Amino acid sequence: MKRAKELVIISGKGGTGKTTLSGSLVRLLGKNEKVICDSDVDAADMFLLFEPETEREEDFRGKSIAVINYDKCVDCGICQKVCRFDAVALEDGKYQINPYSCDGCTYCMLACPAKAISMEQQVVGKWFISNTDSGSMVHARLKPGAENSGNLVTMVKHQSHLLAEENGISLILIDGPPGIGCPVTSAISGANLAVIVTEPTFSGIHDLERVLGVTGHFQVSSAIVINKYDMNEKNSRDIERFAKEKDIPLLGKIPLSTCVMDAITRNKTPVDSCPDIKSIMEDILGKIKKLMDIQ
Ligand code: SF4
Ligand code: SF4
Repeated sequence: MKRAKELVIISGKGGTGKTTLSGSLVRLLGKNEKVICDSDVDAADMFLLFEPETEREEDFRGKSIAVINYDKCVDCGICQKVCRFDAVALEDGKYQINPYSCDGCTYCMLACPAKAISMEQQVVGKWFISNTDSGSMVHARLKPGAENSGNLVTMVKHQSHLLAEENGISLILIDGPPGIGCPVTSAISGANLAVIVTEPTFSGIHDLERVLGVTGHFQVSSAIVINKYDMNEKNSRDIERFAKEKDIPLLGKIPLSTCVMDAITRNKTPVDSCPDIKSIMEDILGKIKKLMDIQ
């Protein structure tokens, strides 16, 4: 079977309606038509819309950091002296390693005269495979302050592909992280289409340009959806003009709607309760399918 195609929904920053669009597409696509992949590992929120029942839960391990065995430690303080990352401090009469500052360079382990330090891989998050009434979902949670979000995104994408292959599913719908950082590059890397959700504000246009810079760099085809387009129709026209000049498909314009806001407050997708918005979303999905050459 061919590798499943990847559709990723992103935005230049949080709060632009990215999950509103992803959630609506999840609802519109058939249960066995896609694997849902929530790659916003720092602030996953798809589970709020789809109430997943966890079927599998696994630890996600990050880099190795130094750990002191106090049965062997002789309190010489050499580890603190050699650490160039200021990760070792004397607290409550004990040398202690701050896991958030430790770079894992192993210098202290090699320097410790009592061989009291070892390197241990840290559990920095969890990933899950869950069932929802709209299909299988792969999602994850990174511990607050933990690094490695890009690697965790790569992991949830990899698990989504395995699940798709097992179940003969040909599409992975990825709710991407906001912004343009490392997790976003992991989310879009290898995607067949990135749909960028933007708002007609000055910063929205700026964020759109920045995120297009990233998709362009990774040679991922892009398309645009304007959310709350009637909030500032002039700016929306500017975005339309910009999209035309750059030859980037504009898939649709979603109006500012109290129905949408109400649905989101109740953890529902607009497709569940806003007929006007549902038909706009259906139109957007039709265009996505055409661009991705899927049935
Ligand atoms: S270098 Fe080793 S023995 Fe010395 S304080 Fe650090 S852990 Fe303890
Ligand atoms: S592994 Fe490196 S960074 Fe971590 S505590 Fe030891 S010397 Fe410092």
